[in-house]
Amino acid sequence: MDLVDPFGRTIRDLRISVTDRCNFRCTYCMPAEGMQWLPRSEVLTFEEIERLARIFVERYEVDGIRITGGEPTVRAHLPVLIEKLSDLRVPAGSRSPLAGSKPDLAITTNGATFRLVAHDLRAAGLDRVNISLDTLQRERFLQMTRRDELVRVLDGIEAAKEAGFAPVKVNAVIERGTNDDEVVDLARYGREHGVEVRFIEFMPLDAEGGWDRSKVFSQAEIVSTIDAVFPLEQVPSRGAAPADRWRYRDGGGLIGVIPTVTAPFCGDCDRVRLTADGQFRTCLFETREFDLRALLRNGASDDELAAEIERAVGTKWAGHQINQVNFIRPKRTMSQIGG
Ligand code: SAM
Repeated sequence: MDLVDPFGRTIRDLRISVTDRCNFRCTYCMPAEGMQWLPRSEVLTFEEIERLARIFVERYEVDGIRITGGEPTVRAHLPVLIEKLSDLRVPAGSRSPLAGSKPDLAITTNGATFRLVAHDLRAAGLDRVNISLDTLQRERFLQMTRRDELVRVLDGIEAAKEAGFAPVKVNAVIERGTNDDEVVDLARYGREHGVEVRFIEFMPLDAEGGWDRSKVFSQAEIVSTIDAVFPLEQVPSRGAAPADRWRYRDGGGLIGVIPTVTAPFCGDCDRVRLTADGQFRTCLFETREFDLRALLRNGASDDELAAEIERAVGTKWAGHQINQVNFIRPKRTMSQIGG
């Protein structure tokens, strides 16, 4: 059966954070020091994640799962989880194009150690990879991520291609005054390496409270900057996908823009999220969470878990409030929620 929210949106996409830990400290996400990690006992086990994912896929016909974090590749034995998720089946009678098959399985990673796991993740059934890369300049990479890992991330992107992931996408957060002068260079990198770059507007989910509207380099600015060098045409309708897409008029591939701040796509949002500690969220910017871990660990039946999931989805709001005066930042940062 479909899981439908009060605004008629059917939930199709589940984001699962497998850890709040990360080997980077990106300035727009985490503080340099002093992150308080979840104690291991509070993090869901693979069996717990699988049990919840099974309810979403097999009961509610959710046909896409994205694994994220923190940095998901720092979680040991990640291919074992991917294997478990690959065994799930979207019900045969579902309207999903994946009816009768496994859900689409994707990961968002910083890519630094991706070469070490790419092959095993692919063999376990992972379909797609997004690798984060905000700059092509080594010094700036060090400033933005607080790690000198540009070379390994670029190699991680090549490893993803070699392992057969297609498409490989690159996520680039653009912050005015930090890396907005690299939009064309990143676009050129995507064209030359056959990867789709998805430019992301800077969102108010950083740990240090440094976000303000003036630092948002908007979708309109991103597109016009690239278009001036590599002419673009918009690809019609993104449906529930978060990115608006453009293609190069010369056939050089595609770009995406995730315009969360200046052109929110909440009206088509089909996403829900599970944090590493088993809290269920219906929006990245929600302040309210539903504690599925407590239910799991207190012996709840699948019907009881499903009832709580439905109760939560019944509270999914029409859209986030970033552009309104009453916007309240979530207490948890992107890395703690799972981007
Ligand atoms: N560690 C993985 C990675 O780097 O891709 C996965 C988790 S990370 C939180 C997921 C995505 O969120 C990354 O593409 C990251 O750049 C993005 N992100 C983090 N903080 C953000 C912010 N304040 N605004 C926009 N995007 C952000």
